[in-house]
Amino acid sequence: MDAAQLYEYPSHLREAVAGMPDAPGVYIFHGAEGDLPLYIGKSIRLRSRVLSHLRTPDEARMLRQTQRISHIRTTGEIGALLLEAQLIKQQHPLFNQKLRRQRQLCSLRVQGAAVEVVYSKDINFATETDLYGLYASRHSALEALRQLADDQRLCYGALGLEKLAQGRGCFRAQLHQCAGVCRGDETPQAHQQRLCAALEVLRIACWPYAGAVGLVERYGQEQQIHLIHHWHYLGSVSDVAQVGRLHQVAPGFDADGYKILCRPLLSGGCEVIPLP
Ligand SMILES: [Zn+2]
Repeated sequence: MDAAQLYEYPSHLREAVAGMPDAPGVYIFHGAEGDLPLYIGKSIRLRSRVLSHLRTPDEARMLRQTQRISHIRTTGEIGALLLEAQLIKQQHPLFNQKLRRQRQLCSLRVQGAAVEVVYSKDINFATETDLYGLYASRHSALEALRQLADDQRLCYGALGLEKLAQGRGCFRAQLHQCAGVCRGDETPQAHQQRLCAALEVLRIACWPYAGAVGLVERYGQEQQIHLIHHWHYLGSVSDVAQVGRLHQVAPGFDADGYKILCRPLLSGGCEVIPLP
């Protein structure tokens, strides 16, 4: 039976929503067993968002298992996104489809004419320059490189994706899928130029500050300062004086933080305070 057929309005949860503010934050559906989190989400309007969950027949299974709903207020969307990602990583809720783990990340780096896969365990992606793309595995990094080579008619041999036979062009050159740097149809410089131009759009932005910074978000009279270092979210406080309570050095690059913070921090559209 599909979830929708099991659906009936979860009246037992109506009270849980009654006192919830329609303001930004993170909400957590807790199960009966050990109060474990079943689902963690974020919204800039908590109450409306949670009410819409209660009316979603596709979520009948989760709603039946839910014993209570808790929430944590934030002063804006960025804070909600950061906290949601942090809690999901820490608590692994059963019904969050996109399970986020702090796993090994890969990226691409140009090495002469070739391109190599590099790993976040070996280098700090937040500070290393000239890295291109974020991938969950070596396989998907190479897949992306092949796709880029196909789009730009680059040579798998020159890129290091396959071995070239001495003195012969590659098989893809015969099919005109490679523009033929391998057999002298184009110069290595022309090949390199197309490679670099195509990679440019994938470039990972380096952490643009000397150390940790505080990103300020306000909601009415309330304010939060989100402490961030190397794209890694370290926690939030309501006043600069409390920053010292938080750990101020990131354990490493964080892909969720990067995705959430890249645009707001690089666009200069938000208030940022450097921290000592
Ligand atoms: Zn070729």
